[in-house]
Amino acid sequence: MDPDNYKISKLTGMFLDKNLEQQFQESYLSRSKNHLRKTALIVGTLFFLFLIYDFSSYKIFSSLAIIVLCRLSFLLLSMLFYFKPDYFLKSSAFLKITIYELILVILYFVIIFNYESPHFLIQAFGLNVIILGFFILIPNLLYYKLFLSFLTWTSFLLITITLYHPPFNEMISVFFYLLLAIFFCSTSTYSLNKYKRLDFLNKLYFMELSTKDPLTNAYNRLKFNEALSSELEVAKRYGNTFSLIMFDIDHFKQFNDQNGHSFGDKVLKAIANLVQESVREVDVFARWGGEEFVILLPQTHCQEASALAERLRALIYKESLKKEMDLTCSFGVTSFLSQDDQELIMERVDRALYKAKEGGRNIVVTEYNLQVVSA
Ligand code: GH3
Ligand code: MG
Ligand code: MG
Repeated sequence: MDPDNYKISKLTGMFLDKNLEQQFQESYLSRSKNHLRKTALIVGTLFFLFLIYDFSSYKIFSSLAIIVLCRLSFLLLSMLFYFKPDYFLKSSAFLKITIYELILVILYFVIIFNYESPHFLIQAFGLNVIILGFFILIPNLLYYKLFLSFLTWTSFLLITITLYHPPFNEMISVFFYLLLAIFFCSTSTYSLNKYKRLDFLNKLYFMELSTKDPLTNAYNRLKFNEALSSELEVAKRYGNTFSLIMFDIDHFKQFNDQNGHSFGDKVLKAIANLVQESVREVDVFARWGGEEFVILLPQTHCQEASALAERLRALIYKESLKKEMDLTCSFGVTSFLSQDDQELIMERVDRALYKAKEGGRNIVVTEYNLQVVSA
């Protein structure tokens, strides 16, 4: 992958590529989970503590009861968010976050219109702080943030104008200050969105560089060793099995000498592509070094691995004959034994490959349980 190939929308700061955007959002949400649940709890607690102010502003006791109920229900919702974040963040997470914010706004409205004399400027100021909080504190998509803040802002102005007729100059200043706050917050959210995504792209790119072989795009030896080590652990702990195939191009030095190194490179790439397309998604196909490759096959018994190796051997030979090249590969196959460690199993598959070379090349040799089975 090349980070320059992925375009970011000039309007939202999001990836235009839907799959990549999805991938980013999942990783972003899983990283923000802790931050989100703590924020929800802090917001819920602070919102509840505003009861101190309410005691001085309520009309009648029933109004106070409604206010307490509103603040308490939001605190409970925030606690639910804190203790069960996965319920909120599993699917349509951003929509659920927006609904959570919308509930806060509705409760805020219910509370302020239960005061004896709602102070227009104080309530507008409170609303401004809530909108700032939505933009700065809570990870959400830009268009959800904009939708929510405009909805909040217009409904607040409409309700107060119809019910309380605040002074015209106060209304105008509230209108513009809120508009300015939303404008500043959206531009900074846009840049944040963009830079978070560029950062994500760079991370993906470096991960790919550190795990893949640039010529063949197969995994490199480092990644293979990691996969093998974790597969060994799983196999030992759960009694699973897995198999390994190692193959090497026959007489490739001679092939290079006759056809040139750069043509040799193309052939290496073509063989790697052919194999990559023939293995499963869960298999780890890696370049072991030079013109030697390995395949780790989780949950695969020896006979299945030998059959796959045989299919690959025949496929490579057939494809090379089609191109009038007469290029072949030799294969070694083995499977996990309970006493195995990384060195033992690699030695065994290497020995099987060596025997395939000795046995005349273009064959598959399976070495398992210290018996040699030739195909
Ligand atoms: P054998 O059948 O015993 O495997 O013979 P071989 O000639 O393939 O074996 P050897 O290990 O002696 O030579 C491997 C050759 O592979 C040497 C080198 O020219 C070639 N080779 C290794 N890496 C690359 C590469 O990245 N590109 C190209 N074009 N050739 C490579
Ligand atoms: Mg070779
Ligand atoms: Mg070799």
